[in-house]
Amino acid sequence: MTSPCDVLHAPSSLFGGNIVYNYCSHGRFQISTVAKSASKAQAGEARGLLTPLRIVDVPVTQDQRLYNEVLDAILDRRLNPGVKLKEDELSDIFAVSRTVVRRALLRLSHDRIVDIQPNRGATVIRPDPDKAREILSVRRLIEGAVIAEATQAATAESLKVLERCVEDERDEVRRQHAGAGLRLSGDFHIRLAALSGNATLMGYLKELVPQTSLIISMYQTPHHTLCSHQEHFDIVEVMKRGDVKEARAIMDRHLQHIEDKLDLVDERIPGDLYAAFAHVKGAEKA
Ligand SMILES: [Zn+2]
Repeated sequence: MTSPCDVLHAPSSLFGGNIVYNYCSHGRFQISTVAKSASKAQAGEARGLLTPLRIVDVPVTQDQRLYNEVLDAILDRRLNPGVKLKEDELSDIFAVSRTVVRRALLRLSHDRIVDIQPNRGATVIRPDPDKAREILSVRRLIEGAVIAEATQAATAESLKVLERCVEDERDEVRRQHAGAGLRLSGDFHIRLAALSGNATLMGYLKELVPQTSLIISMYQTPHHTLCSHQEHFDIVEVMKRGDVKEARAIMDRHLQHIEDKLDLVDERIPGDLYAAFAHVKGAEKA
């Protein structure tokens, strides 16, 4: 049974009015805008939905499930940078069509988690340490503005939803699902950006968060829980008090902790698709 999840409906102008934006690591929430070609009536309907947060249930699609599985395996280091994500093997393992596989891989490519080259297929990206430092420093700049705006825009209801997101993250970590925990940890930051209502910040952060998750999974030092859910709970507590200055400070400390626990030198070796998905029915090699 799926639990209700929040959906953020944003005005079409927020996202430029000509894109339909869909993001959810659970596979359960969507952020939608109205296409330019949409009729005035459709646009009006969408505007009618413009509340800060709405609780609805969205079914998980095959694409979304595969996206989550592959991303979790990458973040869990069952699939390391450099490994080839073969369409036929993924199609075989997950018993889905190659069209579904291609769509999931394309989305991972948009998130800069995999690289797709003609005739070579998709491989897991290996961000080098310099690129990793660049991404982390830009994130710190952006997240200061995000947390300030999100704190000002937060309502009791939206903070409750944020807290539930952190509880989901904590539960995955307790189940020792490190990849899913890391993915949900990234969700927390994207939700903050959505809450800020600033589409430009949201766009930048959505681009940076999956790459940061990949960097964390690649370069984390052993025995550390990165981007910890406890720190996320602490951030929500500060937001509840509406203290923008402290919210900026606690976010900065949080991101500093992440950087402190990375060793931007080590590189890991590629893995095997069948070994990475051994828990999935059909993953036994014929
Ligand atoms: Zn975090």
